[in-house]
Amino acid sequence: MATRKNNTLKLSFETGWKYDPAPESKSSAKIDPRYELFINGKFEKPLSKKYFNTINPATEEKLSEVADANVADVNKAVKAARNAYDKVWKKMPPKERAKYIYRIARMIQERAREFSVIETLDGGKPIRESRDVDIPLVANHFFYYAGWADKLEYAFPNRTASPLGVAGQIIPWNFPLLMAAWKIAPALATGNTVVLKPAETTPLTALKLAEIIQEADLPPGVVNIITGAGATGAAIVNHPDINKIAFTGSTDVGKLIQRAVAGTNKKVTLELGGKAANIIFDDAPIDQAVEGIINGIFFNQGHVCCAGSRLFVQESVYKEVIRKLKDRLETLIVGDPMDKNTDVGAINSKQQLSNIHKYLKIGQQEGAEMYQSSCPLPSKGFFCRPTLFTGVSQSHRISQEEIFGPVLAIQSFRTDDEVIEKANNTPFGLSAGVWTDKGSKIFNLTTKMRAGVIWANTYNKFDPTSPFGGYKESGYGREGGLHGLSAYVNLT
Ligand code: NAP
Ligand code: MG
Repeated sequence: MATRKNNTLKLSFETGWKYDPAPESKSSAKIDPRYELFINGKFEKPLSKKYFNTINPATEEKLSEVADANVADVNKAVKAARNAYDKVWKKMPPKERAKYIYRIARMIQERAREFSVIETLDGGKPIRESRDVDIPLVANHFFYYAGWADKLEYAFPNRTASPLGVAGQIIPWNFPLLMAAWKIAPALATGNTVVLKPAETTPLTALKLAEIIQEADLPPGVVNIITGAGATGAAIVNHPDINKIAFTGSTDVGKLIQRAVAGTNKKVTLELGGKAANIIFDDAPIDQAVEGIINGIFFNQGHVCCAGSRLFVQESVYKEVIRKLKDRLETLIVGDPMDKNTDVGAINSKQQLSNIHKYLKIGQQEGAEMYQSSCPLPSKGFFCRPTLFTGVSQSHRISQEEIFGPVLAIQSFRTDDEVIEKANNTPFGLSAGVWTDKGSKIFNLTTKMRAGVIWANTYNKFDPTSPFGGYKESGYGREGGLHGLSAYVNLT
């Protein structure tokens, strides 16, 4: 049955059968030509007087320009957050705080379509993902943490949880609004105030969230959203009146941050890079596993910190898995992210695309064999063909370094011990996947693998109740669930 299905897919592809375009309408998305900084409940012109463009990576067209916050702007935002913390937010009864967070969650749900469209236009991810994954999870995070706001004594029995103060939050471009929700929702629920900086290439949904925060009548200064590049992030990290830094991004910048806060009283959580192993045993449901592997690395163009970018296949099913992966690769639809049929959208920026191309060259120079989908790529915008590498060895850079693109490095293995050793042999430890019919094998691997999240017979599943975070160079601290609350409180 499975074989017949695959043959059908292959045949459809070979005969040139295609889906008609099914573009999502842009009409729900109102994007202003310019955005200011959201400080103390108002949109304020930057003291820097500077702006930069944000583009649509699928068309290279300018979408808007946003303020470039300098040190003086960061000072202003931190001052507003401190004032709101001291005078309003920390004194507010928790159940009142909860009402605001619930209100934000409901407003995001009401405007989910608009948020999805803007997320896709600004970042390049397929509309299907923004619509079905990112934005629903954003609302769920706000709902989940709103629920905890007045129940902290149950979250931390026999302890008293008090807020830390002002949280500086810096987020990347791969899940722009979701990362903002991961950070803002638990901070507010525990009584902290916030200065948040989205990534340079994807600032728009955070600014739209600022509009919602304003409409929700959140007291001015409780959440401040300022845009800028790395220098703005560094100004947040170095600000003396910030009590907590929550950062999600690359391991390189994470290390800089760790150095900058050493010797200060700032608390820090770092969610950094990954090089996850996805492991298929010969007793796994192979078709289901192949689909999971494809989802694990090509979902969001591989712009996922926990992407299953290394695949380990047990030797006896190696040939079968590779053949099925190649067949499936051919059927992936690469192109316009606004098309509801698209599986693989645009790479987030020109810089990221050239970084991926650099690794494609490195992989070939190292002697691995590259296989790419033969799909056509749009003539404009930043796109990359889904890519598999076979003949990869442990020492290859493509199996050690984070590529952050739709590139899968494949190796084979024979025994459990061998694959555990190989899977653990990277500087990272964020996530992993195991595909097998045997529960005992799953338990054996999950206890021996050094990864924060391990999925069994599925991949890339997220839930606000579940903690997320890494070992080793993937960072420290957990976000999500109860663990996510404890990152924002002092316990006595
Ligand atoms: P990045 O370059 O580290 O940037 C992350 C954020 O930090 C951006 O807002 C960035 O601003 C800012 N920034 C840059 N330099 C800074 C500095 N010196 N001080 C303070 N902030 C600074 O990472 P990215 O390329 O945007 O994102 C991809 C990385 O994020 C990958 O490594 C991925 O694995 C990781 N990630 C991890 C998780 C997780 O939960 N573990 C989740 C998602 C992504 P600009 O954008 O303006 O440069
Ligand atoms: Mg953009």
